[in-house]
Amino acid sequence: MSDDCIFCKIAHGELPADTVYQDENITAFRDIEPQAKTHILVITNKHFDSLNDACRDEPEILGHLLRICAMVARDHGIDDSGYRVLTNVGNDGGQSVGHLHFHVLGGNKLSPGLG
Ligand code: AMP
Ligand code: ZN
Repeated sequence: MSDDCIFCKIAHGELPADTVYQDENITAFRDIEPQAKTHILVITNKHFDSLNDACRDEPEILGHLLRICAMVARDHGIDDSGYRVLTNVGNDGGQSVGHLHFHVLGGNKLSPGLG
């Protein structure tokens, strides 16, 4: 756990969040500034700065994380209508919180642009 990381604090129950799923490795909670009708963040409970670090140090967790993204989409009824899963990495990627997280966005038609 990284002491000054808000997502570590959420994963460890030290900061409140609207949590929709948790297991020993993964936590999912609603984004505080939703960019779509459904906007959920899926994070590893363990701190990784980004996809780069998780890939290097513990790549096997990424399959689990993606499966939970799909499960969260299904649980929120957006699997058939469609959704987007994305992770921002670093400065050019627009990452604003330095703890690996995947966005699950859906519930309405999303903009076609990807940057
Ligand atoms: P990114 O810009 O990809 O790093 O995404 C960070 C996301 O975290 C943004 O969509 C923020 O709205 C969201 N966020 C920041 N702080 C919180 C929080 N305390 N609870 C829920 N979502 C948060
Ligand atoms: Zn963290």
